Amino acid sequence: MQNKQLNDLKEQAKQLDRNDKLAYKLSEFELPTELIYLDGNSLGPLSHSAKKRAIEVVEQQWGADLIESWNKHEWIGLPKLTGNKLAELIGAEENTVICCDSISVNLFKVLSAALLLQENQSKKQKPRVTRNVILSQSDNFPSDIYMAQGLATLLGENRCKLQTVENRCIEQELQENGDKISVLMLTHVNFKNGDISNMRAITHLAHQKGVMVIWDLAHSAGVLPLELEACQVDFAVGCTYKYLNGGPGAPAFVYVAKRHQKGLQQPLSGWMGHKQPFAFLHDYEAANGPEQMLSGTPPVISMSILDASLDVFDGLNMIDIREKSIALNAFFQECIDHLLAGSALKLACHVDANERGSQTSYTHAHAYAICQALIAHKVVPDFRAPDILRLGFSPLFLTFEQVFTAARLLADIVRDERYLLPEYQQMKEVT
Ligand SMILES: *Cc1c(COP(=O)(O)O)cnc(C)c1O
Repeated sequence: MQNKQLNDLKEQAKQLDRNDKLAYKLSEFELPTELIYLDGNSLGPLSHSAKKRAIEVVEQQWGADLIESWNKHEWIGLPKLTGNKLAELIGAEENTVICCDSISVNLFKVLSAALLLQENQSKKQKPRVTRNVILSQSDNFPSDIYMAQGLATLLGENRCKLQTVENRCIEQELQENGDKISVLMLTHVNFKNGDISNMRAITHLAHQKGVMVIWDLAHSAGVLPLELEACQVDFAVGCTYKYLNGGPGAPAFVYVAKRHQKGLQQPLSGWMGHKQPFAFLHDYEAANGPEQMLSGTPPVISMSILDASLDVFDGLNMIDIREKSIALNAFFQECIDHLLAGSALKLACHVDANERGSQTSYTHAHAYAICQALIAHKVVPDFRAPDILRLGFSPLFLTFEQVFTAARLLADIVRDERYLLPEYQQMKEVT
């Protein structure tokens, strides 16, 4: 690599930083100065507003005001308040989103509810059609698959059967066997290769075939423009600890289209989803709005932190966020193409950054060790078994100069085989 080329790339990075409309956002985060954090897609960083709220909710609200805080600090309203803030970020109407539990648990609720809706629908039809299939992608996130498997075990084959096909075959499967499919459960952005599914077209096709649609927005919310309402999505779930920076284990969210809210039945019918939780009545009666998706007591500390984290998005628009996200990914690739042409590091995602979520993935036989070597030099991506190095580019806190530095380090590590050092081989429990 010629020095001139390196300098050109560095100059290009500086120029991109000067033109970056979102550059000012970096100062709202607590990131260690030396760190280049390419894992905001697994755990978003701490913002100043989140830290401030964490201290306040522990010291003042819990510490001093105790039980009174449920009213005084509106703890009871947090699931709905955070849900409505999220609704704006994902193109959903007010009072269609609520924060609670994890994606996995929320999937169980919406899968069950959607299957029941379909069963009730089919009872009214003559001749009766039996739809019992949950269709999903074979490379969907494992937990999504596991939850459907668990539900299938509970309900039995006659009522629920999981079927998975390759992502590119989803539409064909809908065309050919749509009349057997009850629910289509898809992840919008694939966690390994970042492939984006066409939410509008697939939802539309599914509806034509009488199929309900659930979208998992884990790698989309907070980084891609979404239009749940315009796409007429039935249900959606997503987490808040990735691009939404809600903090480790922050509560997830669930979207229920207005048209499904009345008469919906979700099986985890706990007191917080009751119409009158504090009347302590014997029989369950679901609340009207998205609150009916709640089960037990909300994790108030996490949810307060999430509430403050979402304030970072105030005044931002998703188009600008997406634009920077694409630019970061494209620039990283450009650097790697220059610095490391023809190496054993192979791109494992769509070559066009416009066609994938905010991440770039590579395969390499030593992907895990490469990841460890990067971390040792303060560049933090992650590893996804069996051989994927995944670099997440969060537009709110990364600079193009950091992207350049990270690409240069990766190129050095791969070219000089520095990853072969014994200290990078030790497999940790969380990758
Ligand atoms: C991260 C992720 C999850 C996580 O689910 P939790 O139950 O919240 O731990 C689920 N689905 C997808 C697609 C993910 O990327």
